[in-house]
Amino acid sequence: MGEEYWFRQLKANGKGYLDRIDTIKKILIDTRGYVFEKPENEPVIILFSGGMDSTTLIDLVIKQWQSKVILLYFRRDSRNQTYEEQAVDFFHEFYKKRYPNNILELLKLDIQIPSRVNKEYMDNARKKVMGLPMRNATMWANAFTQAIYMSGKYTSTIRTVLCGSVAEDSSSPESGYLSVISGCLHACICLGVWNLQLNAPLMDNSLKVGGMTKKDLVEYCKAQGIPLEKSRSCFGDTKEPCGECLACKYREAAFKAVK
Ligand SMILES: [Zn+2]
Repeated sequence: MGEEYWFRQLKANGKGYLDRIDTIKKILIDTRGYVFEKPENEPVIILFSGGMDSTTLIDLVIKQWQSKVILLYFRRDSRNQTYEEQAVDFFHEFYKKRYPNNILELLKLDIQIPSRVNKEYMDNARKKVMGLPMRNATMWANAFTQAIYMSGKYTSTIRTVLCGSVAEDSSSPESGYLSVISGCLHACICLGVWNLQLNAPLMDNSLKVGGMTKKDLVEYCKAQGIPLEKSRSCFGDTKEPCGECLACKYREAAFKAVK
């Protein structure tokens, strides 16, 4: 299949996207009375990749909600892992100093995501348009497993998993709001407990109405003294960001827009 085919699929997926979100919201409201409750003073798991989105999310969640945060990093055997992990370690230390009462711990899980078995058969045009298959959904499912385990460690129910999708991701199949809210529903159904919540607070209205763009994040970090230049977005395997991949391009555009 060529890229054109996948772009057509993408467009078709966009039709009725908001209606499907409303349908899932309705199931959640009918079942438990809410879509998302701000986890104020509660323990939460934040999926932390070392990129600019999740790095900023940590600060906002602690500052606005005083949440107790477990950072979760997946050593998923990606090309940029060494540099991602350096950023993760840097900001773990940074936030531990900044919020000693709110950073509970940094968890690292060695799980290859996505699995490489049979990867040689993957349609590259698909990958280019749609991303890596089930990448985020796999991480979310594993994060809920940790939420169950860690509830025992902290003798406190951990019901919330947060990920760093931003306003620009809103309709992406892999990280958009429909995926996030369906991941929430999926966790409730499969774990049989309806208080579980998955959310992307930079994308919905819970931190700022209309969500936050990457440009908003750069501005926020500048104002708050967060050294965003230490975060790692590039997908490449070189120490210096390649400047060519999509992650680099979006990041550079955001930094430029603020200067
Ligand atoms: Zn790059």
